[in-house]
Amino acid sequence: MEISLVIPLYNEAESLPELCEWIKHVLETKNLSYEIILVDDGSNDNSWEAIEHLRIQNSSIKGIKFQRNYGKSAALNEGFRAATGNVIITMDADMQDSPDEIPELHRMIMEDGFDIVSGWKKKRYDSTITKNIPSKLFNSVTRKMTGIPLHDFNCGLKAYRKKVIKSIEVYGEMHRYIPVIAKWAGFKKVGEKIVEHRARKYGVTKFGWERFVNGFLDLVSISFVGRFSKRPMHFFGLWGTLFFLTGFSIAIYLIISKFIDSSFSLTNRPSFYIALTSTIFGVQLFLAGFIGELISRNAPGKNSYLIEKRVGL
Ligand code: UDP
Ligand code: MG
Repeated sequence: MEISLVIPLYNEAESLPELCEWIKHVLETKNLSYEIILVDDGSNDNSWEAIEHLRIQNSSIKGIKFQRNYGKSAALNEGFRAATGNVIITMDADMQDSPDEIPELHRMIMEDGFDIVSGWKKKRYDSTITKNIPSKLFNSVTRKMTGIPLHDFNCGLKAYRKKVIKSIEVYGEMHRYIPVIAKWAGFKKVGEKIVEHRARKYGVTKFGWERFVNGFLDLVSISFVGRFSKRPMHFFGLWGTLFFLTGFSIAIYLIISKFIDSSFSLTNRPSFYIALTSTIFGVQLFLAGFIGELISRNAPGKNSYLIEKRVGL
């Protein structure tokens, strides 16, 4: 199998037939073997009926249905597990991403040797105030924090080498940061391709303004998790020790001064309070690090979803 398309969807029944038809047309003309994995993220319209119906006509179409809405990241992760193609391409189900880009993305992975190629919606057809402007800001902060030079982290259209997908896990709302997760896993060759973006034809957007708040918090945690999740003590332990030692040295100094000169008043001095808080703070940080270590050793089940049905898998 050359290409696996992983398409997460939540209430997108109207788009599916057109989308699958278009993909089929593009890939059959280029003579590329493919599968389309449609992950129904607990839709409450008749998306799943649409998927079952499409599968009758085209056996390359496979489906996974979640019991409830777990979010795009969960849907992608489950699709990635099922994917068998050499190149795995994710795209949105709303037809804002054009299937015409697929052959070139596939070529960039197979021939140019990229591990990941991310789409860049240079010209967007979304509302300027709620999406385009916040998105620019979001992308520039993400570029700085992660050191990955992409213009459009949020783009649903991305292509991955199979090895990348099989070695990472996407959870929470981390789908925006798959390139970051992949970078931490050791895949560094990240490319970018300007892709055509289209206005939403059916249905409504599933993400509102909260995406930027959540996105930013996710960015903080992903940078932190990437760096320290396997060794929280290196972060907390270091700062904890520094604070503790600072507080402790000040305390020693105060105690010695008191012995030398008994009229020396301890509690009237700012340094006394600094010593006190700093020692306590240091111990707290140290403990947080220690607990973090224990937790990171047993973190099961962050990726188990209830799957209601499957077809073709
Ligand atoms: N999506 C999903 N689960 C969710 C929300 C969205 O699978 O909980 C899918 C959605 O159906 C679409 C893709 O993720 O295929 C991108 O969502 P949307 O088009 O609403 O985002 P936007 O284009 O507005 O950024
Ligand atoms: Mg969309």
